[in-house]
Amino acid sequence: MGIVKDILYKISSKRFLPVFKDQSIFPYYHIVRNNQVNHIEHLYSFKNKEQFLNDIDILSNNYRPLEPKELLENSIKKNTFLLSFDDGLKEVYTVIYPILKKKNIKAIFFINPNFIDNKEGLYKHYISIIISNLKGKNFEISSLDKISDIFSFSYTTIEDFKQKFTSIKYAEREKVHDVLNFLDINIEDYLNIHKPYITKEQIQEMIKDGFYFGGHTMGHPPLVQLSHEEQKVEIINSIDWLKQNFDINYSLFSFPFSDRSISKKLLEELLEYDNDIKIFGNSGLKKDMDERIIQRFSLENPNKQTEKSIVLENLYKYFNMVIGKYHIKRK
Ligand SMILES: [Zn+2]
Repeated sequence: MGIVKDILYKISSKRFLPVFKDQSIFPYYHIVRNNQVNHIEHLYSFKNKEQFLNDIDILSNNYRPLEPKELLENSIKKNTFLLSFDDGLKEVYTVIYPILKKKNIKAIFFINPNFIDNKEGLYKHYISIIISNLKGKNFEISSLDKISDIFSFSYTTIEDFKQKFTSIKYAEREKVHDVLNFLDINIEDYLNIHKPYITKEQIQEMIKDGFYFGGHTMGHPPLVQLSHEEQKVEIINSIDWLKQNFDINYSLFSFPFSDRSISKKLLEELLEYDNDIKIFGNSGLKKDMDERIIQRFSLENPNKQTEKSIVLENLYKYFNMVIGKYHIKRK
C-alpha cells in the first residue's frame, strides 16, 4: 500500500461504512485456508475460514449480493457486492464453494486452463515452493548463490533474495525447472499429492450449482511482458476454453497480476470479441473506459480489518477524483 492509502486506512473507521453504501463493490480473493501451503506461502498472505466467514457477514449485513447473471444482463444495482476468486486454486472448491453455497451467494471464479487438473502449475507458485524448500535448509548460501547466478541477479539479504527471485521475468520461467532439478524437488509429485488447482469435474459441479467461471489467461503471464498478439491469444483462448469444455455461453475475464498497463487497443478488441463481455481489473474503485470493465479491490489481507478496508477504498476513490485519477486513461 502507498503512503496515501496507509494514512487513509488509519483514519478509516467502520462507523463510516453506511455513508458509502450506494457504491457497489467487487471484492476479490485467491484462497481461503487455515494453514500455510508451500506454493502460496512466499507470495501473499490470506484469510482463514473464520476470517472469510466474518467478511461474508460484514458484506451481507451492509450490501445485497449481486448475481453474476444480473451483471451479465447489465443491471448493476446500487448497494451490492459481487465476489470473485482468481487463479482456480483447489480451495475455491474445498473451502469457498461450500460456504457460498450455504449462504446462497453466487460468485465468479477466474481460472487458468493450463493448470486445471494439475498437469502443470504457475511458475510463481513453483518459486514459492522452492523458497519453502530453501527455508527448510536455513537458506544455505550455496543454493541462494546458485539461483541468483541462474537468473543473473545479486542480493544482499534473504528478504532481498526472495523479492528478486519472486520477480523474475516470465521469459525466464523455464529456468525455474533447473532450480527444481538441482534442489531435487519433484514438481509432478507435488502437483499429484497437493493438487493445488481445481479440476474439470469440480468446475462442472460448481457450474451446475449456479456459479460462474471466467478466463484469467491460459498460463497467468504478466501480460505487460508479452506482445499485443500474445496477450490477446492468452486471454481469448482462456475464455474460449471454458466455452468449449462447459455449457457456458457468456464471456467473463479477469486480468492476471494487474490491469494497469493494458492498452486501449487490447480492451477494444476484447469488447469487440463479445459485445456482452465483462472484464475485471484490480484497480480499486475506479471508472474504466467502458462500463463493461469492472474494477475490483482485494479483501485478502488478513492483517486488515474488513470494514476499514471497504471504507478506505471509498475514501481513496474520492482522493482519486480530487487528483484526477478516478477515470482510468488508457493509451
Ligand atoms: Zn491471478
